[in-house]
Order: sequence, then C-alpha cells, then structure tokens
Amino acid sequence: MAGMEDISCILCGSNNGPVVIEENGFDGKKCEPCSLIYISPRPQQQAVLNIYGHDDAYIPAHAHVESTWPKQLHARYMLKLIRQHCRRGSLLEIGAGAGYFLAEARKIGFDPFAIELNPAQAEFIRSTLNIPCDNQPLSYESWKDKQFDLIYHCDVISHLHDPLAELRVMYDKLKPGGHLVFETGNLGDVDPKYFSLIPAFQYPDPLFFFGQRSLREIVQRSGFKLIKMHQFNIAPQLRFMNFMRGKKLPAHTKKSAQRPLSRSSAIKTLLKNGCHTLSFGLRYHLGSWPVSLSTPQTVVLIAQKPLE
Ligand SMILES: [Zn+2]
Repeated sequence: MAGMEDISCILCGSNNGPVVIEENGFDGKKCEPCSLIYISPRPQQQAVLNIYGHDDAYIPAHAHVESTWPKQLHARYMLKLIRQHCRRGSLLEIGAGAGYFLAEARKIGFDPFAIELNPAQAEFIRSTLNIPCDNQPLSYESWKDKQFDLIYHCDVISHLHDPLAELRVMYDKLKPGGHLVFETGNLGDVDPKYFSLIPAFQYPDPLFFFGQRSLREIVQRSGFKLIKMHQFNIAPQLRFMNFMRGKKLPAHTKKSAQRPLSRSSAIKTLLKNGCHTLSFGLRYHLGSWPVSLSTPQTVVLIAQKPLE
C-alpha cells in the first residue's frame, strides 16, 4: 500500500513474531524475547505527523476546562514521584496537551517549557498559560543550545516513529545529571486474556507497545541510567471504567458546557469528579500493590543522564 513501510523489531531486528493485535486494518506483531509489539506494515512518518499537526485535531476550548480535575490529580501525583529525584529547575514536557502538568509544575518552582504539535493546544499553552511552547517535533535544533534539568512525557513514547533516535535527542537536550521521566503502558508484557478489558488499542496511533524488558533496553541503549520503574496495575481501573461505560453516563455536550452552572449540573460535575477521583485511586493507589508482570499496567520510568 502507498505510504506504508514494513519494519522489524527495533531492538533485535527479527520479524518472525506472531500477530497478537488486529485492529482497524493494522497488525501488531510481537517480538517475544524483547517484549515489544510493533505495527508492521505501518504508515510512513510524514503521514503520522500530518495527523498531529492538522487542524482536525482542534480541541474545543470547553474541553480544556472540563478535563481539568483528572489532569490536575495526575499532574500532582507525577510531580510527587518526580520530586523524589529532581526538585526544581527547567522542565520540558513533550506532547504537553493543554499544559496542565506544566502549570502544576510551575506552582512548585519548576521553570516550564512545552512541545505540542496540536496548533490549538500549543496556542492555549502560549497565550493562556504563558508557557513557552514549540509546535515542531523534538529535534537537535529544538530550543537551540538549551539543556533542561528534566524532560517529561506521558503516553508519547508509543507514538514515536523511532523511539531510540528520539530518546537520544532527549539525552542531548538534558544537562549532565538531568532526569528523564515518562509514563507508558506495558502491553508488550500483557497476557492476551486481559485484552478484552481494553476498549480499543486505537491503531495506528500507537506504533509500539513496550514491556519491562523493551523499556529498560531503549532507555539504556540511549545512554541513560535507569533509576526506577514504578508499576501500577490498571486492571481494577479498566474494569471500573467498563462498568461505568455500561451504565451509559450521559455524554457531555457543548450545549450543557455553555450554560451557567445550575444546581443539577453542579451535582453532575461533583459526581463526575468523584468518578475521576475513584478511577485515579484505583489506578495509582490500589494499583500500586505488586502484581505479576503479565497484568495490564501503567509504568512510570525515571532515568538519569550520567554526570560527565
Ligand atoms: Zn526483538
């Protein structure tokens, strides 16, 4: 097919693994020894970048406001983990979305910078949050010669065309002793019996699904020292979300977001935030109890660029 390319495992070069995911006309092949699932054949790089930078990716302004609470909860928890290793300094977030993580980080003394490809979100970060934001993909030219104390990204690594090359750029953009912190899933390790808990893999958006081995490998091959891998079992949260989806909670409409907050919509917001808090608690608190490698997890990885 035009605009498509065949690839092999990016870690060992083999391409004879079984297809473990089939969705939206794409195949996810698994390299068992590397714990990596990769789409092959896959769309070429320019096609992927066009999706993120295109105006269709416009996000209505009200969506920024509505999703504040879960994002703040998440940001504060990530910062709590981060501050065990890095307490202040310049912080670059790649794929900053609406910038809530950076806004929270600034409150506790970090100096924030953003990369966000979606033009509407990049503009929101610059104009509303007053945070410097580049809307080009990370490269050796990004932010000229500036080096950061901390680089952070969440659910980004799976979407990168060449994660190893991009991690090397991140390494270059960090000061010696600087930290890289990122969050991603562990689908490369997950027993397929859990796949039914996942409503959609959203192929071809995530080009890779990593596991513990492949994560350790990409981080170390890029020059980093792995400091810590926090693992959170997300099976209870997935079950809860599937249960709530079954209840068919009314979808938020533009109309209701524009109305002044009536008593009933205030109660709805309260209930919704309650659900988010419960969902968050299931993911990061109940989920922090140790489980087997093959359970669906979210992984927060903390790595460091060695001091020269
Ligand atoms: Zn491999």
